[in-house]
Amino acid sequence: MKLILLGAPGAGKGTQADFIKAALKVPVISTGNLLREAIAQGTELGRQAKSYMDGGKLVPDDLIIGLVKEKLASHDCEQGAIFDGFPRTVAQAEAMESFTDVDAALSIEVPDEAIVHRMAGRRTCPKCHATYHVEGNPPKVEGVCDKCGEKLGIRHDDDPEVVLQRLEVYHAQTEPVKEHYAQLGKLRSVEGIGSVDEIRKRIFDTLGLNV
Ligand code: AMP
Repeated sequence: MKLILLGAPGAGKGTQADFIKAALKVPVISTGNLLREAIAQGTELGRQAKSYMDGGKLVPDDLIIGLVKEKLASHDCEQGAIFDGFPRTVAQAEAMESFTDVDAALSIEVPDEAIVHRMAGRRTCPKCHATYHVEGNPPKVEGVCDKCGEKLGIRHDDDPEVVLQRLEVYHAQTEPVKEHYAQLGKLRSVEGIGSVDEIRKRIFDTLGLNV
């Protein structure tokens, strides 16, 4: 199955992608995580992407499309993939159609006010990319990743000013992607407010997965 996760930054795509991955047994392709890895490794792609990311802007489509195409061609994606953070523009969605098909696009709907609050308390593992929230989804030991034991950090682009910029970009450039999949009859939506487990159940119901 090939499933796209849509939603504003901080809507819970990464958190929910991990649950869906366990149920569908297909990998997650997170363009944000791939770009952060490229930056950490000091690659040419990372060098090109960094200033866009730090400013809350989108990385140019051609860089992203090449990255996803390459990742999808790897043999662990033979049974499908969950796309977290891609496509983020209609041009990316159209380009994707030239190299793969998609079964569904699931949009996690969260109002902007809730996003701003969530991002202010978000903590991220720089090693395995797990995300937490200091109130809503805290790690078992404060400041330490449950999954790999790494010290948690705050992403540069979770700075409140950058978050507002990312939300603006989301409404202008990524929301039209929902309409694209609605026209193809592939759009599903769930409300992304509530506990992590409540949202997981809504998503599993909508996708017909075993809860
Ligand atoms: P994310 O981790 O998905 O919130 O992505 C972090 C940042 O990476 C975004 O604010 C963009 O700068 C960049 N990025 C991630 N995915 C894409 C994409 N599909 N198209 C363009 N830029 C992206």
